[in-house]
Amino acid sequence: MTAHPAAPPNLTPSGRAGGPGLPQERRLVTAIPGPRSQELHARRLAAVAAGCSSALPVYVAAAGGGVVVDVDGNSLIDLGAGIAVVNVGNSAPGVVEAVREQVAEFTHTCFTVSPYEQYVAVCEALNRLTPGDHEKRSVLFNSGAEAVENAVKIARAATGRQAVVVFEHAYHGRTNLTMALTAKSMPYKHSFGPFAPEVYRMPMSYPFRDGGRSGEAVAAEAITRIEKEIGAGGVAAIVVEPVQGEGGFVVPAPGFLPALAEFARARGIVFVADEIQTGFARTGDVFACEHEGVVPDLITTAKGIAGGMPLSAVTGRAEIMDSVHAGGLGGTYAGNPVACAAALAAIRAVEEGDLSARARALGDVMLPRLRRLAEQHPVIGDVRGRGAMVAVELVRPGTLEPDPAATAAVNAACHAAGVLTLTAGTYGNVLRFLPPLVMGEDLLAEAMDVLADAFASLG
Ligand SMILES: *Cc1c(COP(=O)(O)O)cnc(C)c1O
Repeated sequence: MTAHPAAPPNLTPSGRAGGPGLPQERRLVTAIPGPRSQELHARRLAAVAAGCSSALPVYVAAAGGGVVVDVDGNSLIDLGAGIAVVNVGNSAPGVVEAVREQVAEFTHTCFTVSPYEQYVAVCEALNRLTPGDHEKRSVLFNSGAEAVENAVKIARAATGRQAVVVFEHAYHGRTNLTMALTAKSMPYKHSFGPFAPEVYRMPMSYPFRDGGRSGEAVAAEAITRIEKEIGAGGVAAIVVEPVQGEGGFVVPAPGFLPALAEFARARGIVFVADEIQTGFARTGDVFACEHEGVVPDLITTAKGIAGGMPLSAVTGRAEIMDSVHAGGLGGTYAGNPVACAAALAAIRAVEEGDLSARARALGDVMLPRLRRLAEQHPVIGDVRGRGAMVAVELVRPGTLEPDPAATAAVNAACHAAGVLTLTAGTYGNVLRFLPPLVMGEDLLAEAMDVLADAFASLG
């Protein structure tokens, strides 16, 4: 990434400058969490709803490059990137500059009241960047869940059909419809029903857990069940994550996605790729679908789109997108101008910084290390991922029986040693690694050392 020395320092309320100028180091000056974080946490428990919890309650003062600095002055290596959001880095200079300029011009008009160029420019960029050279349209929203809901609305309007097909281990969000699309009960759905109807769950290709069946074989089973249990003529959309996120970084076997896309095309079903976690260079391509040359009809994006500002989108075939009546799509804040300005800067950083190549380079640091760890520690049953979206799945050695306790122990040991890791998976037994794509390889290697120590401490 190019430096922007002319930009004023990005000062936090505490006077710390965030962004890539932060020292790129792991530095512990207190226990984790430290005393100031603990004070804030006590305030939080008395003020914030208990249902909204945090994976690691260290309170953040600044972040940039590959580190998060907390209010006690600890500098943690960031292997979460705010859940694959700050691919371009926290407070990336171009994003900060774009936001600063836009916020001084106007902060909001509501695009459905009086429009502005920034929104149009983001749609143009998405139409250009997403797979396929067909005519496309885009529409913007705030959150990933909102994008997925709207993709389903659009698919239903375009087809006149109602059923939606999703997969085991899928995660698509927390609103009522997207809870229905999501597989896992606790914590996402438990006690929150009833859920939206006309949602059908099909088998997912999961090589570690399905005996290494071919992608084509699992797709064929799903297709037969769609034909027999729903009837393909009633299906509006097939919604699938090309690499599953919250479900445990499940990478389907080759052939699974192309077979589903081909079936959808043949039966007039809208094929929706949910690239909310995989998008914007995370997997080593700008979009994960590109890996197998799959061209979705619609693609949902969010997370990595705007360098941390809230924005999401649905992009797809013009004839499908334009089938919705005027006024049918929108939202008060949807496509906010500040978020759009940030997105244009983040997209520029993805392209000009060739962050796809960076993602592959970071994957090349992680995967060999993790494979060696798996040889030493049979609790690691599987190492998988693509680009800088990498995970290990923990099991009782030699079995497929999930080991969420060991997963939690390794995760906690990483946190205590100053590495911010995240867990995932239907069984809570996956450690996932999502470094910002601008992280230095040395810092990432140090995080892998900490992880190795954490596994060694399992005993
Ligand atoms: C995070 C995520 C969502 C939901 O996005 P929100 O912005 O949290 O609503 C949907 N789909 C996938 C694949 C995700 O990773």
